[in-house]
Amino acid sequence: RLDELVLKCTQVFTELAIVKEIHLETDIEQPLEIVGDEERLHQLLVILLDNALKYTNQGGKIYVLCKREGQRVTVMVNDTGIGIPKEDIPFLFDRFFRVDKMRSRQTEGTGLGLSIAKWIVDAHHGKIQVSSEEGVGTSFLLTLPLKQ
Ligand code: ATP
Repeated sequence: RLDELVLKCTQVFTELAIVKEIHLETDIEQPLEIVGDEERLHQLLVILLDNALKYTNQGGKIYVLCKREGQRVTVMVNDTGIGIPKEDIPFLFDRFFRVDKMRSRQTEGTGLGLSIAKWIVDAHHGKIQVSSEEGVGTSFLLTLPLKQ
């Protein structure tokens, strides 16, 4: 049950968001059944939510949408954070890639998260896409096949 997993993860992150004064909103359709490795899918959600929280400033918003679309499920993690420069987007899922050393110095990270996320999505026959605008925010979109 992907809806239950997403709910569980967002509940934990809601508490973390409160500390940073970020508003986390969710819209989760249920039930959504998929076939997969629960631990890996949990890790995938944590990577995306952790980034959203890490790269969004105080007073910002994170929105998580999880819904059925035909034979697939869509999970969107949207933030009103610092965004990603256009020229960096093609490299985002590369191992050890981090945007700009100056800004990376302020936030801890290895640059491994998104390459792991991509690997997990691929292993589940899904897709991961990103759209982002610097200074406006970032949106990660996952699609995964529903259980037949
Ligand atoms: P770690 O994997 O240890 O969390 P990381 O956050 O640096 O480290 P990735 O998760 O792979 O590594 O992300 C790569 C880079 O993409 C980050 O350094 C960051 O610059 C950028 N990035 C990822 N998610 C977001 C986001 N939601 N908003 C803005 N920038 C982001």
